[in-house]
Amino acid sequence: MKDSCHVAFFPFTAYGHMIPMAHMAVLFASRGVQTTIITTRETAPRFTELIGKTINYDHLITLHIIEFKAAEACLPLGLENSDKPVPSQPITNVFDVISMLQEPFEQFILQARPNCIVADMFYPWTTKIAAKYNIPRIVFNVNGFFPLCVFEAMRVYDPARDVSSDSEPFIVPHLPHKIMLTKKQLARFEEVKIKGFVEVLIQASEAEVTSYGVVMNSFYELEPEYALHYREVIKRKAWHIGPVSLFRKNIEDKLERGRESGIDEHECLKWLDSKGCDAVVYISFGTMVTVTSSQLYEIAMGLEACDKNFIWVIKKDEEKSFPEGFEARMKAKGKGLIIKGWAPQVLILDHESVGGFVTHCGWNSVLEGVSGGVGMVAWPVMAEQFFNAKLVTDVFGIGVPIGDVEWSATSRCEGVKGETIANAVARLMGAEEGQEMRRRARVLKDKAKTAIEEGGSSYSDLTAFINEIKALSELS
Ligand code: UDP
Repeated sequence: MKDSCHVAFFPFTAYGHMIPMAHMAVLFASRGVQTTIITTRETAPRFTELIGKTINYDHLITLHIIEFKAAEACLPLGLENSDKPVPSQPITNVFDVISMLQEPFEQFILQARPNCIVADMFYPWTTKIAAKYNIPRIVFNVNGFFPLCVFEAMRVYDPARDVSSDSEPFIVPHLPHKIMLTKKQLARFEEVKIKGFVEVLIQASEAEVTSYGVVMNSFYELEPEYALHYREVIKRKAWHIGPVSLFRKNIEDKLERGRESGIDEHECLKWLDSKGCDAVVYISFGTMVTVTSSQLYEIAMGLEACDKNFIWVIKKDEEKSFPEGFEARMKAKGKGLIIKGWAPQVLILDHESVGGFVTHCGWNSVLEGVSGGVGMVAWPVMAEQFFNAKLVTDVFGIGVPIGDVEWSATSRCEGVKGETIANAVARLMGAEEGQEMRRRARVLKDKAKTAIEEGGSSYSDLTAFINEIKALSELS
């Protein structure tokens, strides 16, 4: 069997996709695999940061810059970076623009001839290009097994078809657990606003079937029934190799997130060190959700009412929506630390003072919460977050649902009253129910650690993956 193996990673540029894929590339390099990360000039600096200064395998990782011909298409540079606000461009155009990367991607494949391509789910066209050169294309689907199984059951059986109202619950059929949803919690695929996104989702799910396999940032013991269901019932080839963030063990590594923190990490750790075990709740809605001003106001009211220690990440200037004097009062009492901009999330969730996480249930946040052994208030907003919320509350039993929230086509978090937030946080951080949720979360945390150690399920699946790619390249 050939000893050398070259895997090319092609990440989508949203942080929630880019961070785990960069960590995945480092993980492969740590096993002696030659890895290339394909990216655009605008996005490359983020990867330099994400790969990290402290990693020893940098000789095995190369950044390959592909030219994005934005200027030729009269588009602003950086449009392919989906977190940049481009107000006049609907999301349809972002995906149209991204498809312009096909030609330079094919040129790279032609020259470099990697043994395998791991490309983000949002680049469905990579499957055809890879097939042209007889190279296996693996999909990186940013989600876990559970949301993929729910998505597939919804697609095949359409259980929402027969309900008489948006709030009437229905069972998602043929799943290992009884999962109840309402129409309100589902994406409205007919919405014009998300038309471009829906088209890409359809292409992505078709490409998932025709690709060689799927690599998952998950671990077997987290969702065993769904890891099996995905492979044996839905019949997809998959490897679970996560949580990839756990591979980064020291403080410097945990801080490599492709973006500068809105707080000095020592200040943050000092504040956390001054609190007792499980005494702090961390609140974040990830990178894509917009929290409306009235919702920011209600969250502040809720936090003040429930009187728990908190770290809350907000975007710059969002403090303008706070109730009069809120920030000063929280600071004076030592109750709250407000981070404006980017928070060192993994560092915070791993701290023993943090016992709870109010989260929008993005897959990375769920996995990082589990890896930190914290309970959660599940507050989904869009995408597959409502499915993930069910996993946290109904399957893992480590979360409190925020209540009756609706899927948002505009990525907006809104409509929850301060009193509801205060009650949910009080339940989460409380002695009885909260403690039991944290106990269960800690069991999952230990399992996550074991999964990535030598001999663990994720470690072994990565070995199997690498061996299979090497064997395939022998044959070709
Ligand atoms: N993140 C972070 N600091 C922040 C906000 C987000 O480190 O202030 C990271 C977080 O740890 C996670 C990713 O960004 O790895 C967000 O991914 P997720 O799937 O949770 O949500 P998305 O932003 O994609 O909705």
